[in-house]
Amino acid sequence: MLAMNYRGPYRVRIDERAEPEIEHPGDAIVRVTRSCICGSDLHLYHGLVPDTRVGTTFGHEFTGVVERVGPDVQRLKPGDRVLVPFNIFCGTCFFCSRELFSNCHNVNPEATAVGGIFGYSHTTGGYAGGQAEYVRVPMADIGPTVLPEGLDEDDAVLLTDVFPTGYQAAEMGSIREGDTVVVFGAGPVGLFAARSAWFMGAGRVIVVDHVEYRLAFAREFAHCETVDFKSVGDMAIHIKKMTDGLGADVCIDCVGAEAAGSFAQTLTGVKLKLQGGAATVLHWAINSVRKGGHVSIVGVYGPTFNALPIGNAVNKGLTLRMNQASVKRHLPKLIEHVQAGRIRPSDIITHRLPLEEVAEGYHLFSSKLDECIKVVLLPPS
Ligand code: NAD
Ligand code: ZN
Ligand code: ZN
Repeated sequence: MLAMNYRGPYRVRIDERAEPEIEHPGDAIVRVTRSCICGSDLHLYHGLVPDTRVGTTFGHEFTGVVERVGPDVQRLKPGDRVLVPFNIFCGTCFFCSRELFSNCHNVNPEATAVGGIFGYSHTTGGYAGGQAEYVRVPMADIGPTVLPEGLDEDDAVLLTDVFPTGYQAAEMGSIREGDTVVVFGAGPVGLFAARSAWFMGAGRVIVVDHVEYRLAFAREFAHCETVDFKSVGDMAIHIKKMTDGLGADVCIDCVGAEAAGSFAQTLTGVKLKLQGGAATVLHWAINSVRKGGHVSIVGVYGPTFNALPIGNAVNKGLTLRMNQASVKRHLPKLIEHVQAGRIRPSDIITHRLPLEEVAEGYHLFSSKLDECIKVVLLPPS
């Protein structure tokens, strides 16, 4: 089969490799029909995540058709069309029973923080990803959701991660009626966080980025105000000016590692070929929120970035919440929003490329070329 192959920072290609097999009785093999490239994949692509091994296949946002199932699988059968949450989780451990699926204890027992994720380095379990023609889905009775009748697959694939993640980002901000919410990052996650903030009663939503076409798209898609961070001096002062001197009620980080700029380079030794972004969004979020406000972080940092402007956060009495999203928890609600026509997630898809053009997809998405917002890879059918 064809599969994406990571060769080192900024280098990916397509290769022929063996099809996955059932390794455990609870596995399914899924033939992939849609597979996205995520901002999280960019951290791998940029070399910022430890133990990202050459030769591995990325991809944690995919839909497909069940090809084969192991003997223990009860709920899925060959031919079922499924969307597969990016988390691999057991459904029964201490964390899963509290719906913290992203922190499942049984799928990545060596890690102290995160659970299992498809195609996301050996720090999240070393599972092969879905930027391929076929993928092995462990614990197949637990994660995958059979596509409900009438749910468009382009919408479904955005329910495997970025829409639920944006939604959880807004939820973790504990938004109250009329709140001013600042979302850092106008990528897919930030766009869905901004949309979700309105669902939760925000009175004002402001999205911050520096890529003009993304800010324009955010104004259209999320009906928000925008700030180009290149055009403001001190971010916290700017946000305070916009909010009668108080600061925002809620700040949400939908950017992550690359925003740490030169700090990221120092930590990892990887020379980043990034356009701008050289400011720590964590500082901006903590300094721009009002006293007693909420900061929600879904931007991914990974184990390399264990430094935080903690002094100001304590003195301001902030509530900080953060996590990898627990996708499955949000699906019934979000599928209902989609089916009721309140949101069409697929509006953010700008590029549909054959899987063979995976390298071009990463290049466009990483470099913000051709007004790229979301790339969907299509394996040969
Ligand atoms: P993306 O790379 O498309 O978007 C990031 C955006 O941030 C870009 O538009 C970039 O221009 C902008 N940006 C860079 N520096 C900035 C700064 N200093 N201030 C404001 N904006 C800045 O990625 P995405 O797919 O939207 O993902 C966003 C983040 O969410 C990534 O860190 C990703 O790893 C993370 N993520 C987390 C989860 C989770 O479960 N927690 C799931 C999916 C993605
Ligand atoms: Zn993702
Ligand atoms: Zn579990």
